[in-house]
Amino acid sequence: MSYRRSIAIDGPAGSGKSTVARGLARMLGYRYVSTGDIYRALALATLRKGVDPTDEQEVERLALESRIELHETADGGQRTFLNGEDVSDAIRRADVDGVVSPVSVHPRVRAWLIGLQRSLANERDIVMDGRDIGTVVLPESEHKFFLTASPEERARRRHKEYEAKGRAVSFDEVLQGVLSRDAIDSGRATAPLVVAPGAVVIDCTNMSVAQVIGEMLRALGRTGN
Ligand code: C5P
Repeated sequence: MSYRRSIAIDGPAGSGKSTVARGLARMLGYRYVSTGDIYRALALATLRKGVDPTDEQEVERLALESRIELHETADGGQRTFLNGEDVSDAIRRADVDGVVSPVSVHPRVRAWLIGLQRSLANERDIVMDGRDIGTVVLPESEHKFFLTASPEERARRRHKEYEAKGRAVSFDEVLQGVLSRDAIDSGRATAPLVVAPGAVVIDCTNMSVAQVIGEMLRALGRTGN
């Protein structure tokens, strides 16, 4: 049970959750935590150790023996560490995108990783983004948002990010990747991506980051402009 204030932001891949969560946290003076990076770090560990991402027992064993940490940066961002190594860039690669959703379906793995997420929420007031924050990780959050956008718009945003990083990948491949992660994340039995009860749903297909943050601030009872 957390006695800190928390804001939960859930939504599908590429909806802009992390950018918005970070901006909102900065405005409120809260810590920003993007929980997808925890699952990404574990996905990277499976690739490095040659562990089959569909093997729950093996993935759980790896989760138990891996040290995954999220560090806050001076500018309000986040760096991800796996066994002491900064893997923040490595976890954004295409091979990690390909295995992260299969790794994240396992109930026992999720149960283990939830402890880490809750402990972060106990330390500071927090804006946390993910897939199951409002439903499972921090169901007592006073403020919950579900941020979404059309699959094409989400793929367009991701494609632009990849191009900026020099990653050669076609729009269609990005769109297929987004759709495939949506299907696994929404269809899994444990902690599927769903709108949490009481969550404010924001479709940001035609909205800027500033507009989304403004709408969230209004929902929080603070004036956004
Ligand atoms: O947020 P991001 O797209 O980086 O998350 C990567 C993947 O991690 C998601 O597609 C999902 O499979 C998994 N994830 C999850 N629960 C969370 C956050 C992420 O299952 N709370």
